[in-house]
Amino acid sequence: MGKNIAIIGSGFSSLAAASYLSKAGNTVTIYEKNNTVGGRARQLKKDGFTFDIGPTWYWMPDVFERFYNDFGKDPSDYYDLIKLSPAYSVYFGEGDFITIEDTLEKISAAFEAEEPGSSLKLKKFMDAAQDNYNIAIKDLVYRPGVSPLELVTPVTMKKVGQFFSTISKQVRKEFNNPRLVSILEFPVLFLGAKPSNTPAFYSFMNYADFGLGTFHPVDGMYSVIKGMKALAEELGVTIKTNQNVEKINVSDKTATSIIVNSEEIKADIILSGADYHHTETLLDVPHRQYSESYWEKKTFAPSSLLFYVGFDKKLKNVEHHTLFFDVDFEAHAREIYDTPAWPENPLFYASFPSKTDKNAAPEGKEAGIFLIPLAPGLEDTSALREKYFSIIMNRFEKLTNQEVKNYVIFKESFCINDFIEDYNSYKGNAYGLANTLLQTAFLRPKLKSKKVKNLFFTGQLSVPGPGVPPSLISGKLVAGLIEKK
Ligand SMILES: Cc1cc2nc3c(=O)[nH]c(=O)nc-3n(C[C@H](O)[C@H](O)[C@H](O)COP(=O)(O)OP(=O)(O)OC[C@H]3O[C@@H](n4cnc5c(N)ncnc54)[C@H](O)[C@@H]3O)c2cc1C
Repeated sequence: MGKNIAIIGSGFSSLAAASYLSKAGNTVTIYEKNNTVGGRARQLKKDGFTFDIGPTWYWMPDVFERFYNDFGKDPSDYYDLIKLSPAYSVYFGEGDFITIEDTLEKISAAFEAEEPGSSLKLKKFMDAAQDNYNIAIKDLVYRPGVSPLELVTPVTMKKVGQFFSTISKQVRKEFNNPRLVSILEFPVLFLGAKPSNTPAFYSFMNYADFGLGTFHPVDGMYSVIKGMKALAEELGVTIKTNQNVEKINVSDKTATSIIVNSEEIKADIILSGADYHHTETLLDVPHRQYSESYWEKKTFAPSSLLFYVGFDKKLKNVEHHTLFFDVDFEAHAREIYDTPAWPENPLFYASFPSKTDKNAAPEGKEAGIFLIPLAPGLEDTSALREKYFSIIMNRFEKLTNQEVKNYVIFKESFCINDFIEDYNSYKGNAYGLANTLLQTAFLRPKLKSKKVKNLFFTGQLSVPGPGVPPSLISGKLVAGLIEKK
């Protein structure tokens, strides 16, 4: 018989889990504290401009296809995708950038132009990356992290060395050119840790980047959320917004109800897609699995300072996605992970969705999203935000050789305090818990509570990890565990 399931939060993982659980015959209700769904993937609309507040890179289209196919659907039933061509560009100095095109052939030519002989090395590197992708994304990440044995297969045994070497070492073994090294180290930043602290096996992210390409969902990533909400509702899920979950009640070591806006709601199963740390604070202390010192010791993915800017003209010399790697990566990474501080010289990323999508900005104008990665837990003030806006706008003008500051119609910002306030995010982290060797699979916070029966977790702090595709997979994994119960 179907169970009555209450889900906390409406991010990608919650929406995915809700769909699987409802399809299996359960009665599923989502309780979301904010007034819109989508978690970190919400949307900002202002003066005719549209911005994705959170994720902007649509990678691993096969994971989205697999998700929709589980329900006899395709992504195209819900949203349209454009393959970005070029995928992105990377600035290394004034007027000095490398463009990453949309096929491996064209990317190899760019490598060869940069460092003669590098295209052959790239082929070898990408063959191994594709192999890892087939092992990891088509199989391993669909294992729920219950036991270390899940990672032990004849194929992974052959790759064991790659778990104990790092992506940074692997890339440097083959490539000397620092610009090519930066480009090859970029994809694992999505996993939340330094490349020197990320296992070499995670080169599957390079295959996602160069092998599969970068896509833009028409109207932005929020159209993926709209698609997932529509699918969940078609399957019978009830989604309630403005519903702040204040407590999880436990009786006889079993989760029995949640308190939502002061009202008690009983459920057979409680599943939380809210930040794991926050969810545990909804329990009385004896029912929590992980202590504050456990969380303190973990490597968190960065937080971010974000700006959403309306420009009163079209911008030149930028692509839909543009990375600004013109400063010392190692120094900024130390300020994120080793000695948390506001960066002396920040790297930053910018996205201009109106380059591809006419709906993102009024005619003749440009929508710009700027992101500076930051250590979680830093002090966040409006003065600091202004200071960094000025730093990156000055750099942006010089690097891309154009005037922009006088063309800003408006800017909105989002930073650590907003991550805490809007999502109950631990120290204001943006992308959850990093995927390091010691925070992989069975070593991550568990999908099923070890202390409280009928209580489950999903999302970017759990298994398999940060990012939109892993969040979809996390929802599927936890639904599987609930069904197995
Ligand atoms: C700025 C930014 C850029 C990113 N860029 C990319 C990218 O380009 N590509 C990519 O793949 N990934 C990217 N990511 C990561 C990706 O967005 C996340 O991994 C993913 O969205 C996390 O989904 P989730 O299901 O774990 O939960 P979340 O999105 O965190 O959702 C959790 C939900 O729970 C709700 N909640 C919290 N507490 C309560 C409570 N007490 N009661 C009720 N509801 C509650 C929150 O309001 C929220 O809606 C980015 C993230 C950020 C922040």
